[in-house]
Amino acid sequence: MVTGVGSPTVLTGLAVADATSEPVPATATVAGGAVRVQTLTGGADLGAHVAGAALLPGLVNMHDHLRAFLPTGRASEGMPLATAITSSAAAQAVAGQDDYRALTALGAARQVHAGVTTVVDHVYPLHRDGLLEAVVEGHRAVGLRGYVALGIMTRGAADLCTSVEDVIGLAERAADVLLPREQLYLAPVSMRSNAPDDYAVAARAAERLGVRLYTHIAETQAEVDACHAEHGVRPVELLHHSGFLRPGTVLVHGVRLSDAEIALIAGSGAVLAYCPTNHLRFAKGFAPVTDLLAAGAAVTLGVDGMESPFHEMRQAVYAQGQAAGDPGALTSAQAFDMATGAGARALGLPEGLDGADLVRIDLTAPALQPLADPVWSVVHRAAPAHVTDVVVAGRHILRDGELTAADDVAIAEEAASVIRSLAARTGSSVPQFWDIPSRTAPPQ
Ligand SMILES: [Zn+2]
Repeated sequence: MVTGVGSPTVLTGLAVADATSEPVPATATVAGGAVRVQTLTGGADLGAHVAGAALLPGLVNMHDHLRAFLPTGRASEGMPLATAITSSAAAQAVAGQDDYRALTALGAARQVHAGVTTVVDHVYPLHRDGLLEAVVEGHRAVGLRGYVALGIMTRGAADLCTSVEDVIGLAERAADVLLPREQLYLAPVSMRSNAPDDYAVAARAAERLGVRLYTHIAETQAEVDACHAEHGVRPVELLHHSGFLRPGTVLVHGVRLSDAEIALIAGSGAVLAYCPTNHLRFAKGFAPVTDLLAAGAAVTLGVDGMESPFHEMRQAVYAQGQAAGDPGALTSAQAFDMATGAGARALGLPEGLDGADLVRIDLTAPALQPLADPVWSVVHRAAPAHVTDVVVAGRHILRDGELTAADDVAIAEEAASVIRSLAARTGSSVPQFWDIPSRTAPPQ
C-alpha cells in the first residue's frame, strides 16, 4: 500500500528478497535514488496489514527485441522460425528512427507493467544512423533500465547488413556517452546472419572496449547440423575457438547443446538466457537447463517477445519437467532466482531488495488467494495485472498501476500508427488493427 504520495514513498508488504529467505513483513522506503527495506516486528494484526502485497526484487528480462517486427495474428500461427524471420526483414529494411523509438517505447511499457526493471534489448539491424539513440529514447520514455546488445549482421539481406567494424565503432562512440559501457554488448545475431570470423573480431573488440558479448546460439538442430557441416564443430565449440566464451557473455537459447558444450559454458563463466515459451512457440525443443545448472552454469530468463517474466518462470518449471519426465526437475525457487538474482548477478546489479529496484504486486487478487507460499504463488499464479508499483534506480516509474513518465494510450497509439505506416511502406497487406476505444469517437 502506498502511504506517501511525494518523496519519500513508503511501500509495505511481504518482502520476498530471494527464493530461499522466509518472506517477512516490511516497509520499503524509496528516496534519494535508493530503496531501504526495514523489517516490521510486533503487532497482532501486522500480518493482515501487510499480506495484501508482496515486495519483490526487480525482474530481469535477459532477452528481448522490444521493437518487434515479427508477424502476429492468426496468419502467423504455425509459421516456421525461418519464415517468421524472413517476414520481418521487409519491415526492418524500411524502418527508421521514429519506428524504432515508438515500437521500443511500447515494448518498454509492456515490460514495466510486467514488473521488469531491467531488460537486455537485442537491437538489429543497425543499418542507419540514429537507431541506437532511438532505442535508448524508447527505454527512457518509461524509465526502464535498458541494456543494449548491438546486433551485428554480416550475412543475409544486403540492405540489413553492416560490417562488424561499423557496429564496433558505434559501441565505441556510445560507451559512457549514451550508456555506461557495462550496459552495452557486442552481439553477432546468429550463425544464420554472421560469418564465423565475426565472433573472433567481436571478442577482441569487446576486450579492448570493456563491453560484453551476446548472441543467439544453438537454437535449432538445423543450425547445429549446418555449423557442423561447414566448420566441423558444433556452435558453442565454434564460439569457444573464437574466444567468444568469456565471463559475462550471454548465450541466448542454447536449446541444442552437447555435454561438452555444457562443460564449456559452465567453465567459461558465460550465462544462458533461457526463453522457454519462445522455444515452445516455435517447437525448438527443450534447452538442457537442469544439466547446465548441475554443471554450475548461470541460467537466466528471457521473455523474447512473449507475455511476461511471470509466464516464463512457470513455463520454465513445466517445460523442464516435461523434458525430464519429472515434474520436480526444476523448482519454482530455481525459476524465481533465474528471473531475479541470477539476472542481477549476470548484469552486475545489486541483488535482493536493498538495492535501487523494487516491484510491488497486489496479493489480494483472487488468482493469488489463498496465499500459502509467496514464491510459489508469484511463479505459478502472478501476472502483469497484479503489478501495482515499479521502482527503477530509485525512481518510482509505475505508481498504482500507472506509468509516471508517460501515457500508455499515447504510446500505444503511436506504435499502432508506426505499424500501419511500416505496412504501407513495405506494400504488405495492412492487417486490421482495432482502434483504442478511449480515443475513438462514438458512432453518430
Ligand atoms: Zn531473440
